Amino acid sequence: MTRIAILGGGPGGYEAALVAAQLGAEVLVVDRDGLGGACVLTDCVPSKTLLATSDAMTSFACSAPLGVRLRSGGSAEKEVTVTLGTVNARVKALALAQSLDIARRVGREGVEVVRGTARLVGANRLVVRTEDGEEGYGADVVLIATGASPRLLGGSETDGDRILNWQQLYDLPELPEHLVVVGSGVTGAEFASAYLALGSRVTLVSSRDRVMPSEDADAALLLEDVFTRRGMQIVKRARAAGVDRTADGVVVKLDDGRTVDGSHCLVAVGSVPNTSGIGLEDVGVARDERGYVRVDRVSRTSVPGIYAAGDCTGVLLLASVAAMQGRIAMWHALGDAVEPLKLSNVAANVFTDPEIATVGLGLAASEGERGGVQEVKLPLATNARAKMQGVLDGFVKLYCRPGSGTVLGGVVVAPRASELILPVSLAVQNALTVDQLAHTFTIYPSLSGSITEAARQLHLAESS
Ligand SMILES: Cc1cc2nc3c(=O)[nH]c(=O)nc-3n(C[C@H](O)[C@H](O)[C@H](O)COP(=O)(O)OP(=O)(O)OC[C@H]3O[C@@H](n4cnc5c(N)ncnc54)[C@H](O)[C@@H]3O)c2cc1C
Repeated sequence: MTRIAILGGGPGGYEAALVAAQLGAEVLVVDRDGLGGACVLTDCVPSKTLLATSDAMTSFACSAPLGVRLRSGGSAEKEVTVTLGTVNARVKALALAQSLDIARRVGREGVEVVRGTARLVGANRLVVRTEDGEEGYGADVVLIATGASPRLLGGSETDGDRILNWQQLYDLPELPEHLVVVGSGVTGAEFASAYLALGSRVTLVSSRDRVMPSEDADAALLLEDVFTRRGMQIVKRARAAGVDRTADGVVVKLDDGRTVDGSHCLVAVGSVPNTSGIGLEDVGVARDERGYVRVDRVSRTSVPGIYAAGDCTGVLLLASVAAMQGRIAMWHALGDAVEPLKLSNVAANVFTDPEIATVGLGLAASEGERGGVQEVKLPLATNARAKMQGVLDGFVKLYCRPGSGTVLGGVVVAPRASELILPVSLAVQNALTVDQLAHTFTIYPSLSGSITEAARQLHLAESS
């Protein structure tokens, strides 16, 4: 029986464990925080649970044009509020329940789970430090899936009270009166969107010309417009150098000398891989200059028998990619059929309001890389269902290869775009053509009707 040892129980680790157990291996998972990892306990799951509340707030606040009114006669936008303590308690309980669900599932498959901190002491040996001391384990195959941690701003620690990273937000007793979000990548934008909807005043500090610089430019600009209309202040071309406490709040110092005051500051300036102090240098596992473990498309590291998956590899910091890298590692290590990781098929979503969902060519492709590709952009404003629902902002964008009409990717900006992107993902994964997409039945009226309509327009663009 092949012995597999997995360092880290996030999606990269526990999904790999499930595959390895299914293939008949003896599996050990070591995690210091709990199964599900940072993804379930502090990052993805908590943030999306918080967003469920902020989405409900937005729907309610925007319902006046649909004829919804309060019996008191007040405006929904002004009257609705949240009890942050209740929201945060729900977030934490849900995250814990999800972690326990995963632990039960992994346990049912016969995987041994140890709560502790692991480090490699050889290509086939690890030591685990637990509350009771240290214990050594042997392994034929090792998977490193130790994830990443929030990056500090200007080298300073957050205080968990007024200066926070995204993992500390759920201990806030009250809604911040004025939240300054430093960092306008996906994480910063999602929290800025959420807290604005929850009722905080929000200032978003962006070091670039626009928010979410790695997302589709039209989508990012639309979001900027929505944010601004809803009252968010966006400070652009402003690199934060540090943040200090004041008597009753915080002051963010920009490197051009300007300052931004607020009651609280959320530092969302990216993450650093958890790859130090786990013995990688001792066993010769190569890392890049930023500390990420170097892997190939079947998750192999530079050392035979040692694989790596997830955020510690820096490939694409997504739970879905971590899980797929972990599964691929096990399929490969245990001799099962395996296809190398294909990033052009990855679908990703920004959970702002509206959401931005992207797949294939749309994902992180620069304008230059899209040269020669046929493209159509259809505003949702012309969609009957969008009109009925009062959806004013959003679009569908579709890309195809000239000549063959093969769908290469797309972008959907809409409420619940994460649910709408699937037909485009299916088309990209299976190399469907725009005509095949165009001839597919959709529900009338539906937002997904705009996807097949975009495909029909691409057919026309292609043949003109
Ligand atoms: C705020 C936020 C929101 C996000 N939202 C989404 C989203 O909506 N969708 C999406 O796809 N992705 C999202 N992500 C990204 C997603 O959370 C990560 O890509 C995912 O967590 C990566 O999984 P992982 O298994 O690599 O690592 P992790 O989930 O970080 O798990 C790694 C685990 O390893 C443990 N560990 C580390 N070192 C050791 C050691 N030496 N010994 C034992 N255990 C160790 C850690 O404690 C942790 O429990 C979000 C990220 C953030 C920060």
